[in-house]
Amino acid sequence: MTYSVWRIAREALRGNSGWQPAWRDQAPKPRYDVIVVGGGGHGLATAHYLAKLHGIANVAVLEKGWIGSGNAGRNTTIIRSNYLLPGNEVFYEHSMKLWEGLEQDLNFNTMVSQRGVLNLFHSDAERDAAARRGNSMRLHGADGELLDAAQVRTMVPLLDFDNARFPITGGLMQRRGGTARHDAVVWGYARAADRRGVDIIQNCEVTGIRVEGGRVRGVETTRGYIGAGKVGLACAGNTSRVAAMAGLRLPIESHVLQAFVSEAIKPLVDTVITFGAGHFYISQSDKGSLVFGGDIDGYNSYAQRGSLPIVEDVAEACVALLPCTGRLRMLRSWGGIMDMSMDGSPIIDRTSVEGLYLNAGWCYGGFKATPASGWCFAHTIAHDEAHALNAAMRLDRFATGALIDEKGAGAQPNLH
Ligand SMILES: Cc1cc2nc3c(=O)[nH]c(=O)nc-3n(C[C@H](O)[C@H](O)[C@H](O)COP(=O)(O)OP(=O)(O)OC[C@H]3O[C@@H](n4cnc5c(N)ncnc54)[C@H](O)[C@@H]3O)c2cc1C
Repeated sequence: MTYSVWRIAREALRGNSGWQPAWRDQAPKPRYDVIVVGGGGHGLATAHYLAKLHGIANVAVLEKGWIGSGNAGRNTTIIRSNYLLPGNEVFYEHSMKLWEGLEQDLNFNTMVSQRGVLNLFHSDAERDAAARRGNSMRLHGADGELLDAAQVRTMVPLLDFDNARFPITGGLMQRRGGTARHDAVVWGYARAADRRGVDIIQNCEVTGIRVEGGRVRGVETTRGYIGAGKVGLACAGNTSRVAAMAGLRLPIESHVLQAFVSEAIKPLVDTVITFGAGHFYISQSDKGSLVFGGDIDGYNSYAQRGSLPIVEDVAEACVALLPCTGRLRMLRSWGGIMDMSMDGSPIIDRTSVEGLYLNAGWCYGGFKATPASGWCFAHTIAHDEAHALNAAMRLDRFATGALIDEKGAGAQPNLH
């Protein structure tokens, strides 16, 4: 079923009796060409691009809960491609281009909103770093604009520009950045993959990975053994645990990151803003809630819930930046488990087990990467080698020292 304005009109006249499920509820087959473990955005995007671009549709996505129950449905929905290093910037800019055509590609309203992302700076040193990053973005084909304090004031007048400790002296603006509706991204990829024949199997936890003679043969699950030619891991916060089933010990730590939503208010911020003097980012949802987040909780955990000190820390940053939010009520908060790599940049690569592939290390920033991550992971699985876009995202860089040491990509041990 194709979604269109005609379909809506037709269903309105038929009492909405003709809508079909967006994807089938499949029982596992005995064997697949490719199994993708993890029904988050990355796993589902991988399945979509495997079927669409590489003609590999005998694919199953195995999800232990429901699709989008992990970080894909828990993030603050910011998308951007404002990176510095070549290993990252070309990849994230490719992702941005895929976002720009995603709704047409998936025939699904993923509510991509290019409302801009504004990184504030508060000192000369921060301005120089922002200028350098902006130049790198432009050299790699992305957009970036350095704004002075007066230009920022025109855009967001209610910021505390004259804060005694952190006066706002300007910002680096990426106008093509913004937000997308996270659940819709999951549903859109699921529906598009399903339409091409991919089986999406929920409530199916992978409990073991069968490896024989150094090659992957299939996976043990709570719904029985399933054979596979190739297995791709896209398990985000659970990556270390799942990879350990194949005997791999990864340079990844799992940390809790929280997100927060306020009560709905009239329009206050019409872009995404990040604070340069602390770890804080904020946008406003279409319903009027402020959506914001900050730093990780600072301890390793696999629990999808956070602790109270971070609530205070994030609220402090919010009020420091936007004093008018001081009497606003916080409606909800939740936690997700993020997979923190040791240099803060992702891994999309083969592993030492033949036929087993790894997609991980996304830290704070994997939502914006969802389209390019799936695109590159599908290429790597289909061709058994990296695409130029993910060539630097190698697993062995932690042994060779060829790190992608990008500050600002997300939480990483050397920043905490
Ligand atoms: C609070 C928070 C805010 C964030 N904000 C942003 C943001 O604004 N912008 C941004 O770019 N990024 C953000 N991120 C990061 C981003 O959400 C993640 O990097 C990204 O979603 C990870 O990829 P995924 O969507 O595939 O992960 P997930 O949705 O976590 O998918 C992994 C899936 O694997 C499943 N799984 C795990 N183990 C097994 C198993 N054994 N068997 C079967 N299935 C299994 C899980 O249930 C899960 O559904 C944020 C993260 C958090 C937690």
